[in-house]
Amino acid sequence: MLTIKNINAHYGKVHALKNVSIHLGKGEIVTLIGANGAGKTTMLNTISAVTPPSAGKIVFEDQELAGLSPDRIVKLGICQVPEGRQVFKPMSVEDNLELGAYLRYRGREGRREIRRDLEEIYTLFPRLLERRKQAAGTLSGGEQQMLAMGRALMARPKLLLLDEPSMGLAPLVVQEIFRAIEQLRQERGTTVLLVEQNAKAALRMADRGYVLETGKVVLEGLASDLLENKDVQRAYLGKD
Ligand code: ATP
Repeated sequence: MLTIKNINAHYGKVHALKNVSIHLGKGEIVTLIGANGAGKTTMLNTISAVTPPSAGKIVFEDQELAGLSPDRIVKLGICQVPEGRQVFKPMSVEDNLELGAYLRYRGREGRREIRRDLEEIYTLFPRLLERRKQAAGTLSGGEQQMLAMGRALMARPKLLLLDEPSMGLAPLVVQEIFRAIEQLRQERGTTVLLVEQNAKAALRMADRGYVLETGKVVLEGLASDLLENKDVQRAYLGKD
């Protein structure tokens, strides 16, 4: 579904990605793990065209993404949930969710579809239903993460790019978020590229993983194999 070949990214003199190649099959959950500054966020940003790559090729469902604008990429079915969530704080939960569907507003059928999708998001995250009229800025960190994911899902993405969804959240909330990711894959067949500092939780859920170190892929494989890998354990997996 997505093939990235020899991608490079620069911020001025900083060479943030060095010939990175990864691929995702339809319906897969793939995780990128690595230390701070390894290039994980940059990787997601090259796909969503927030940081266009300086070299390399990104192909999504037979279409090359080079030169496409971020909103064109959303139209193709790729949605990113950025780190730090970035919900519209003064707006209600429901208005935030509806904004996610802005590309699909047209006509009465569009409105009906949006209603249906809202119901679906509320089933996935019942807490958002309880708080639908509440200003997004008054939600807890975990609830804001659910809202940011819900908003992305309102665009009905085929590929969801998640940047550190567990950051700063209590373990129970992390479980809830991860459960929702698995449910999405089961119910919608959504493909997920997940960036996580919480490598253990990510590898437990993912099918495959890539380890990034200073802009390079140093290891890749089945998530179950990476969990057993001594180097990965030493560098990224704390004690249980
Ligand atoms: P973290 O887990 O801390 O978010 P990361 O793996 O996502 O880290 P990136 O944010 O992709 O890492 O950063 C990769 C490298 O690029 C780092 O060295 C970072 O300092 C640098 N970098 C990222 N964004 C910029 C920017 N806007 N300007 C200059 N350098 C940047």
